[in-house]
Amino acid sequence: MSKPLSDHDKRKQISVRGLAGVENVTDLKTNFNRHLHFTLVKDRNVATRRDYYFALANTVRDHLVGRWIRTQQHYYEKDPKRVYYLSLEFYMGRTLQNTMVNLALENACDEAVYQLGLDMEELEDIEEDAGLGNGGLGRLAACFLDSMASLGLAAYGYGIRYEFGIFNQKIVNGWQVEEADDWLRYGNPWEKARPEYMRPVHFYGRTEHHPDGVKWVDTQVVLALPYDTPVPGYRNNVVNTMRLWSAKAPCEFNLKDFNVGGYIQAVLDRNLAENISRVLYPNDNFFEGKELRLKQEYFVVAATLQDIIRRFKVSKFGSREIARTDFNKLPEKVRLNTTIRTYQTCAYTNHTVLPEALERWPIDLFQNLLPRHLEIIYEINRRHLERVASLFPGDTDRMRRMSLIEEGGIKRVNMAHLCIVGAHAVNGVARIHSDILKATVFKDFYEMDPHKFQNKTNGITPRRWLVMCNPGLAEVIAEVNRIGEDFIRDLDQLKKLLKFVNDEAFIRDVAKVKQENKLKFATHLEEHYKVKINPNSMFDIQVKRIHEYKRQLLNCLHIITFYNRIKKEPNKQWSPRTIMIGGKAAPGYHTAKMIIRLITAIGEVVNNDPVVGDRLKVIFLENYRVTLAEKAVPAADLSEQISTAGTEASGTGNMKFMLNGALTIGTMDGANVEMAEEAGEDNIFIFGMRVEDVEAMDKKGYNASEYYNRIPELKQAIDQIAGGFFSPKQPDLFKDIVNLLMHHDRFKVFADYEDYIKCQEKVSALYKKPKEWVKKVIYNIAGSGKFSSDRTISQYAREIWGVEPSLEKIAAPDDPK
Ligand SMILES: *Cc1c(COP(=O)(O)O)cnc(C)c1O
Repeated sequence: MSKPLSDHDKRKQISVRGLAGVENVTDLKTNFNRHLHFTLVKDRNVATRRDYYFALANTVRDHLVGRWIRTQQHYYEKDPKRVYYLSLEFYMGRTLQNTMVNLALENACDEAVYQLGLDMEELEDIEEDAGLGNGGLGRLAACFLDSMASLGLAAYGYGIRYEFGIFNQKIVNGWQVEEADDWLRYGNPWEKARPEYMRPVHFYGRTEHHPDGVKWVDTQVVLALPYDTPVPGYRNNVVNTMRLWSAKAPCEFNLKDFNVGGYIQAVLDRNLAENISRVLYPNDNFFEGKELRLKQEYFVVAATLQDIIRRFKVSKFGSREIARTDFNKLPEKVRLNTTIRTYQTCAYTNHTVLPEALERWPIDLFQNLLPRHLEIIYEINRRHLERVASLFPGDTDRMRRMSLIEEGGIKRVNMAHLCIVGAHAVNGVARIHSDILKATVFKDFYEMDPHKFQNKTNGITPRRWLVMCNPGLAEVIAEVNRIGEDFIRDLDQLKKLLKFVNDEAFIRDVAKVKQENKLKFATHLEEHYKVKINPNSMFDIQVKRIHEYKRQLLNCLHIITFYNRIKKEPNKQWSPRTIMIGGKAAPGYHTAKMIIRLITAIGEVVNNDPVVGDRLKVIFLENYRVTLAEKAVPAADLSEQISTAGTEASGTGNMKFMLNGALTIGTMDGANVEMAEEAGEDNIFIFGMRVEDVEAMDKKGYNASEYYNRIPELKQAIDQIAGGFFSPKQPDLFKDIVNLLMHHDRFKVFADYEDYIKCQEKVSALYKKPKEWVKKVIYNIAGSGKFSSDRTISQYAREIWGVEPSLEKIAAPDDPK
C-alpha cells in the first residue's frame, strides 16, 4: 500500500507546473540564499517566515527582469501601436504564484523551497493581496492585463497606487467591521519606483482669456510618481508594465510665503496633496460624488496622458514626425500619421446600467477643481448639440436628453454622455447588456451613431482561474490521452472534452478533484473559523459584493425555506447542503450591512439546531477577496448567479465557477445568457423573470404583498424575519429589510421566489445522482472556452483597437545565473 501523497508531492506530480530540472532547482536555491543574505540581510538563524517569502519573491522576480527589459526594448525597436488601459481599479491579488505559473517555474521553485526545508503554500500565504479594486470591474482589468501580455500586445495598465486598498472585512458579533488595508507595510517586492518619470498635475486656479489663447493660472500642483509592476505573459517571454501613480507634494508645496511657524504647518499640509492616492473608494456600482474621487480620476488621466505623449516623443516614429512639424500641431499630426489619434484613440466601455452608479458631477464642484476643462466640455457640448439639432431638427426634448450638461435641479456633467461623444466605439460587457444599452440608457446616442455601438462579452484569465487555483483539474484535463496543455492558451479547445462526457475514467477524475478541493477548503475554514463542515454536502456558494440587485436576500429566503422544510419533515432524505455567502458591503451602504447581519443571524439559528444536524449549514465567508475566491471557486458544487434580469452587466464570478466545475443556478442576466448557450440549456439551472417580464412588471406595477399573501412558505419566512425568529434578543432588528422587501423592492425578490425554490429542488434532486451531476459539470467545463479573457481581448484588439494579437514568443533573455 502506498502512503497518501503530501501536498508537496502532489504539486510535484503535476506537469502544467513546469519542469523541476536539477540545474533549475540548484540555481533557485543559490539565488534564494543570496537574496536572504544580501537583500534581506539575514541568516537562517534569525530569518522569519516573512524573510523567506521576500527571499523567494526576489528570486522569482529576477527571472522577470531580463524579459521585462527585452520586451520594452523590443517595443522601442518595432514601435507597434500601443494599447493603454486606464482604470481606477486593478484588483491584482497575489503575484508570486502567478509569476511562477506564467514563467513555468512553479515545480522548480516548489522543489527548491522543499529542499530548503520550507513549505511553499505557507510562504505564498504571507503575500498581501494587491486589493486595488472593489469587485468585478477591477478584477476584469487584472485579467485583461494577463491576457494582453499573453497575446503579445504592447499594452500598459495605468492606475493609482493606493496606499490603502479595499478594506479588510472582519465579522464581529455578526456585523461587518472595516479595517484599513495597510498592504504596503512590509514593502512590495514586485514594484519599482520610477522617480525619473514624475509628472506635475494641476488643480483649481482660474482661466484667463487672451486674444491669442486661454491660460489656466494660479493652480495647485501635485506630482505624480510612477511605480511599475511587471505583467508577464503566459510562457511567451513578454513582460508588460502596469504603471501606478502615487501623489507626491512638490518640495515648495505651501512654502511660497511662509514665516516662522508657517513652515511646520506647510510641511504637515503636504499630506493634503498626497491624500489623492491614499485610499480606494470602497463603492461597487455606486457614485458618491466626492471631490477627492474626481481628483483621483483627473490625476490618473493627466499623469497618464503626459506619460503617453512623452513615450510618443522619444519613440522612433514619433520623433521622426515631430522633427518635420511644428510641435504645437502635434495633435493634428499624430491623428493623421501615427498610432496616437484623438477621436480615433478613445474607446468607452460601459460596465453598468444601474442609474445610481453613473457619474454625474455637479458643475460647481467641477468648475472649482478643473475650470479650464469645464470650459472645454461646454464647447464640446455646443458642437455636439449643434450636430443633434441638424440631424433631428426641432426635437428639443432629444437635445435636452442628450446634453452633456444636465439642467434642472443642480447642473451636472453627465460623464457617460461625454464618453460616448469622445469615443469612436462604445461597448457593453455581455450581449444582453449591450442590447439593453442600445434600447434604453443610450438609445438616443445609438439612433444618432449606430456604428459606434458594439459588444465585448467579458472573460477571465484561465491562468489564474484554472491553472493556478485548480491545478488538479487542469492536470486531469491536460493528460496526454485527453486534450493536452494547449487549452491554457486557447481555451476554446476545452470543447474537445465533449468526447469524454461518457468516459468513466474522466468522470471519476473530475469528481475526485472536486472532492479534494472541497476537503481542502473545508479544512481551511475549520482552521480559520472553527466551523465543522460536512464535506459530502453540496457546497452552494454565492460570493460577490453585497448589493440589493445581486439579491443575496433571495438566497436567504431559500435557506430559510429549506430550513423550515427540514424542520417540518425531519425524517425525509434531504440532500445536504453547506450554503456559503461572502462579500463586502460598502461601508456607507446600510441595507448591504443589514443583509450581512441577516445572513449571520440565520446561520446562528440554523447551525445550532440539532434537528438539522449537518444537513444544512450556513457560513458567511469573511473578507471575500481575490485570494479567497481562488480557494472557494474550485470547491464549489453550485454557483449562485441570481440577480434581477437586466441588472448585472456581465458578471465574471459566474465564469470562474463554470470553468472550475460548478453548476450554475441563475437568472437570464448578464453573461449567464451566453453561458446557457455554450453549456446547453439542459446543463444550467435557469429560473425567474426574463428582461421582458421585468419590463412588463414595471409597467403594470410590482406588488410584493400579492406574493406574500399567496405563497405560504414565503409568508412564513418573512414573518420569521419580521418576528425576531433569527434575532430573538432584538426582534425588530430586521424591520428595515422586511419593509424593503414588502414595500419598495426595486429588484423584485418575491416575484422570483417561487421559481427559484422549484429550481433549487431540481438542483437537490440532481445532486443525488452524482454521475449525472458530473456529466453536466463536464458539459459546463467544455462550454466555458468562450469566457477566456484571451477571447475578449482578441476581440477588443481586432474590432476596436486596431491591433493584431499574436501567440508568438519573443526571444528569451539569458536567465540570470
Ligand atoms: C471575480 C470577482 C468578483 C466579481 O464577481 P461577480 O460575481 O461577477 O460580481 C468580485 N470580487 C472578486 C474578489 C472576484 O475575484
